[in-house]
Amino acid sequence: METTPEEVILVCCSDIAGQVRGKGFPARDLEKRRRLGVGWTPTNIMINCLGGIPATPFGPRGDLFLVPAREGRVLLDFADGTPREQWYLGDILELDETPWDCCPRSFLKRALAALETETGLSLLASFEHEFHLDKAHARSGDSYGLGSMRSIAGFTRDFIGALRANGLEPDTFLPEYGTRQYEITIDPTTGLEAADRAVKLRELCRAVAERHEMTASFSPLVARGGVGNGVHIHCSLVDSDGQSVTYDPQGVGGLSPKAGAFAAGILRHVRALCAITAPSLVSYDRLRPHSWSAFWGNLGLRDREAGLRICPVPAAGDIDPAPRYNMEFRAADAAASPYLQLGMLIFAGLQGLREGLPTPAIHDGDPGDLSDAERETMGIQALPRTLAEALEALETDDVASGWLGPGLRQAYLMHKRGEISMLEDRSPDELCRVYAEAY
Ligand code: GLU
Ligand code: MG
Repeated sequence: METTPEEVILVCCSDIAGQVRGKGFPARDLEKRRRLGVGWTPTNIMINCLGGIPATPFGPRGDLFLVPAREGRVLLDFADGTPREQWYLGDILELDETPWDCCPRSFLKRALAALETETGLSLLASFEHEFHLDKAHARSGDSYGLGSMRSIAGFTRDFIGALRANGLEPDTFLPEYGTRQYEITIDPTTGLEAADRAVKLRELCRAVAERHEMTASFSPLVARGGVGNGVHIHCSLVDSDGQSVTYDPQGVGGLSPKAGAFAAGILRHVRALCAITAPSLVSYDRLRPHSWSAFWGNLGLRDREAGLRICPVPAAGDIDPAPRYNMEFRAADAAASPYLQLGMLIFAGLQGLREGLPTPAIHDGDPGDLSDAERETMGIQALPRTLAEALEALETDDVASGWLGPGLRQAYLMHKRGEISMLEDRSPDELCRVYAEAY
């Protein structure tokens, strides 16, 4: 009997490890699965980026289900007779259909809802990504070089096309400073969609690279001493009419008092935030002084080493800066789930709004040149130097760990400490190799 090929759709989550994992079903069952999802188990969220489960608070117990979100759809179709790749991002629910308290996507929804309920504001965001392509024929010295684009022309065309086809609006694509390093920026959108897009972008990039017989790695540091891959999370605040309320020409750094309070909340909790936004062992080898990433928890204007940078807009008279004005959080990388990253930034910013914090001071220069006392007066904290230090900062910051809730807090700390225990004997070179493969 002749067989008829049948397409399988996966429904996936982006988990604590920042990995996209899920289960599949025949495409013809999509409508049924929209309601019933697929079975999922709590311990799955404890699978780390090495595939290990060194510890779990859940054991073998519990049943959840992973339900595809309509807006979570991804379709990669090269229209050349090869199989399409189709999958959905989804939410992890309890059997009574309430969100599971450790579901990263539901965590971001909680953060966005709290921001809106308490302040009437919503958030626009965009994740800017850097990555390496292992087989690009770039030569060292080709930073931002035209030549660095040539050997990847086929990849670039398919990648940009795949982003567009999936509703992600490409903004720029460039050869970055590092050898074989590239950067993609996309247009901002509302909070949940921005995080969905970040997950989709990473996977589309990997899939298109594979198609072109290359491997894309978003690891924060693919080789020791090399240039890091950052994720810069751009944020702006909008009111209920969709008008940006981020810009105020009279404000410090052009920030409105609301945006300033939001920034202040982020910087107050920045050490705890790093545990979530920069969550690998090599993340802290990227966050070095003078590496154009971030080393201090400071607010900067036109400073590409500030933890939180106000992004300039052209000063031409016919351009209104207000809709474009935004801040980028730079102490982030792609070892994290975008849902957890953005959710934590929102909760921190909201805390600043709740407390009516003043806009942080901007130091025009390297905060490393200031004395400890001067930095303290300006509220500039040192970022953690290791993942262990960041986890400690999260654990001891009751406010920040409270945003996660007790279940997610415990699972997160256990997950990440288990990862450290599996990797602590590795050499720096081995760590780079392991993470380059995982991300
Ligand atoms: N590669 C730098 C980082 O790790 C960012 C360079 C830039 O685009 O400013 O964040
Ligand atoms: Mg860059």
